Amino acid sequence: MQPLKIQNTLTGKKELFKSITKGFVGMYVCGPTVYSNVHVGNVRTFMSFDMIYRYLLHIGYKVRYVRNITDAGHLTDDASEDKISTKARLEKLEPMEIVQKYTVDFHKILQKYNLLPPSIEPTATGHIVEQIEAVQQILDAGLAYIVNGSVYFDVLKYNETNNYGILSKRKIEDSIENTRVLEGQSDKKNPQDFALWKRAEPEHIQRWNSPWSQGFPGWHLECTVMSTKYLGEQFDIHGGGMDLKFPHHECEIAQSEACNHKAPVKYWMHTNMLNLNGKKMSKSTGNHILPQEIYTGNNDILSKAFSPSVTRFFMMQAHYSSILDLSNEALLASEKGYNRLMEAIKNLNKLESTSSSTINIEAWKQKCYDAMNDDFNTPILIAHLFEAVKYINLIKDKKESITKQDLEILAETIKVFTYEVLGLTSSLQTNDDSDKLTGVVELLIQLRKEAKENKNYALSDEIRDKLLEKGIQLKDNREGTTFSI
Ligand code: AMP
Ligand code: ZN
Repeated sequence: MQPLKIQNTLTGKKELFKSITKGFVGMYVCGPTVYSNVHVGNVRTFMSFDMIYRYLLHIGYKVRYVRNITDAGHLTDDASEDKISTKARLEKLEPMEIVQKYTVDFHKILQKYNLLPPSIEPTATGHIVEQIEAVQQILDAGLAYIVNGSVYFDVLKYNETNNYGILSKRKIEDSIENTRVLEGQSDKKNPQDFALWKRAEPEHIQRWNSPWSQGFPGWHLECTVMSTKYLGEQFDIHGGGMDLKFPHHECEIAQSEACNHKAPVKYWMHTNMLNLNGKKMSKSTGNHILPQEIYTGNNDILSKAFSPSVTRFFMMQAHYSSILDLSNEALLASEKGYNRLMEAIKNLNKLESTSSSTINIEAWKQKCYDAMNDDFNTPILIAHLFEAVKYINLIKDKKESITKQDLEILAETIKVFTYEVLGLTSSLQTNDDSDKLTGVVELLIQLRKEAKENKNYALSDEIRDKLLEKGIQLKDNREGTTFSI
């Protein structure tokens, strides 16, 4: 097994990864709240964990990857807003219609960006019974209290014997939940406390019976309950975006400690944000762009459409823990780089081997692994892939030479890291469906050419625009028309 190092937010150190059970990894990642379309910022976080999942699988671990769906109303602690109920009222739909619509959108988008499905995708509404049991356990441990049918976690009491702030490194007096608690509206004893169960107001649609009131669970609780149920009281990796470190993940630790008297997670991993216009991309502020607006080109920000693969390549060019700015220039540069990599892979089968190598391929291959073993350093890995692109071009021009065996290693390694680990896809990869699609697009290109020759520009434009709506972009150049999907 490769000696993998992971930056652990809990300890603030880069640590050698040692799974709790040899050969197996349990990984939990907080999933989306399905009340609106996922934006590309959300996609970045899920893609980072997809890359991590892929690399763990590649180096031989059996991974149980659990990523939840928050479908029970994404509650702020004061319950001033339940985004699913609000949206349901606005759109005059059942909350479960909202949930279904955006869960389907979420899956469609992640599939477009070639993310592997997790092993288990549990929903909050499917685990209400377990959440009620966990609330009771925390009450029994003396670490929660009931007010008017709601149950709150007693942070100050917990902090007497534990460390509330162990993950976020906040001092208890600074860790007041950042919510809009209106004067006199909260039942909490202390501002630090958070809801485990909330009594539902009459207008609240999603509600369940419990020993305390008809109500609904607090958001933090679902992740504690579902991660414990599917991965055990202690598991290897828990991930999410940086913005979830506090209060969400801090509260998860407190709840687990209260229930099981154990630290739930060995390695906490946090991904950094995708920015737009220098600010965090966010649903609530409206500063966002949707994935479908990028690959159809239907937006006011970018000069053209960019395929999911180019966008994925752009994201992989940054380390998961760095802030990344989305811009037209950055995507154009990534497109060039992606095309160069694909072109080199295409040229692999044109290379001729010789009796000796002038390049140390084994050393290059190890550098690729070293990059990924160093806390999944994809930008360094990509730099090594471009080193291989340089080799391929030099070998093609007969300026370097390579043996048959080394050429096989080079080809295998560059493809494994590009497709299997980074999860990029290529129009060069042929399977039945993509062959058929290519054939159909080529036929449409031919029909468009004939329409142009007959001066039927309305038809030729219609073919181009309709293909673009489907995410297929045609590019006219001197050699004819090419397309990208
Ligand atoms: P949400 O549905 O808001 O809970 O977000 C789902 C995931 O996307 C969480 O892990 C967030 O941390 C993450 N996320 C939200 N905004 C961004 C962003 N601008 N860049 C990267 N990840 C984000
Ligand atoms: Zn969570």
